[in-house]
Amino acid sequence: MLKPRDKFTLMGPDGKPYSSASPGTLGGHRGSKLYGRLDCPTALSAIARGGYVAHRVFFPDEATALAAGYRPCSVCMRREYEAWKRQQSARAGIGEREW
Ligand SMILES: [Zn+2]
Repeated sequence: MLKPRDKFTLMGPDGKPYSSASPGTLGGHRGSKLYGRLDCPTALSAIARGGYVAHRVFFPDEATALAAGYRPCSVCMRREYEAWKRQQSARAGIGEREW
C-alpha cells in the first residue's frame, strides 16, 4: 500500500503519467484498458493473485480515464459501463434498439 506522504503517480487524459499530491479515485489496467473502483472485486482478486499490480494505473477522475481511452469495468461500474456501451454504439451508428 502507498504511504500517506508519498507522491502519487496518476495517469493524465493524454495517457501519460504525472505526479500528484493526492491519490487517484479510480484504478485502471494498462493492458486491458479498463478502469474501475479501487475496491473493485475483480481487481482485488487479480491483485491477490499477484498478476495485476505491475500494470495498474490510477486516474484522478472518470473524465480523465475516458479521455485516456480506458473503458469502465462492467463489474464494479455497471452503470458507467452501460452508458459507455451506448456511446460506442452511437458512434458506430448502431441504433438504440440494438440494445
Ligand atoms: Zn471493476
